[in-house]
Amino acid sequence: MADESIRSGVIGHPITHSRSPLIHGNWIAEYGIDGAYNAYDVSPADLSGFLRRVRGGELAGCNVTIPHKEAMLEHIDELTDTAEAIGAVNTIWREADRLLGDNTDAYGFLANLDHAAPGWDENPRCAVVLGAGGAALAVLHGLLSRGFADIRIANRTAARAERLAARFGGSCHAMDWAREEALYSDADFVVNTTSLTMGNETDQQVWSGLDHVAEGATVTDIVYSPLQTSLLKAAQRRDLPTVDGLGMLLHQAVPSFERWFGTRPEVTPGLRRRVEEDLAAGH
Ligand code: NAP
Repeated sequence: MADESIRSGVIGHPITHSRSPLIHGNWIAEYGIDGAYNAYDVSPADLSGFLRRVRGGELAGCNVTIPHKEAMLEHIDELTDTAEAIGAVNTIWREADRLLGDNTDAYGFLANLDHAAPGWDENPRCAVVLGAGGAALAVLHGLLSRGFADIRIANRTAARAERLAARFGGSCHAMDWAREEALYSDADFVVNTTSLTMGNETDQQVWSGLDHVAEGATVTDIVYSPLQTSLLKAAQRRDLPTVDGLGMLLHQAVPSFERWFGTRPEVTPGLRRRVEEDLAAGH
């Protein structure tokens, strides 16, 4: 590899499931960039050592995934306002010997909806957010930035939803996950951020709350494997517009790629097809 080659990648533990090398590798080839993007399995114990390599110039920066997104905060010299507000980092880059951190998940979440369901936030009244884990942080930040007046957070473990509502404040409040009618009543937007839809749950039972949403409410799931989750299928049976979670993964990669490689890449149908094929092949 030539010296001027730009190196980046994704760190996590485990990391084999990540589609980021496929996405960024596709863009590196498409735009003829002299660079590389690899997956690095970095355990929490090895994180400081890996970041010394980034500071030393071995990499231009990297993406950060589970379990390092929140732990990264204490290793970064400067955070963007977005990363600060979300409280998690998914993109880092180097300026001289300093490390800077951003979070592009909220951007990816919003860009996916803007592309797949234009006008979804025209009347930002009531949104239901299912889940209160790491991904919910970015989703809440995104929904607040679009001015939703009533954001209902529900989680299996109620205390976590209450913590998030207290942290974000404003129009966010925690609601009882089990009290479906109150939770979904007249909602214009529903997003699942839990890992629940990855399993074989009986959607008939789990998603009956959708009977109470406003007419034409947009329903999205950030889980993208499977692509058509039980929530999306339940919404489609009720003729509600749906958006799957793969676009969030593709769009969150755009600002990161631009940061390291200097070219703003495009999310094309061809890229989406390649990632869909990879998911279908179960790699
Ligand atoms: P996380 O921090 O581990 O949070 C998991 C969430 O799922 C918690 O709210 C948890 O509730 C809930 N949950 C898990 N199993 C459940 C069950 N059986 N019933 C009800 N709730 C359940 O994970 P995360 O980082 O937020 O990620 C969540 C999902 O989003 C993952 O599937 C991830 O792949 C996906 N994701 C997608 C994108 C994208 O770009 N499309 C980006 C980020 C994440 P408790 O608090 O009660 O445990």
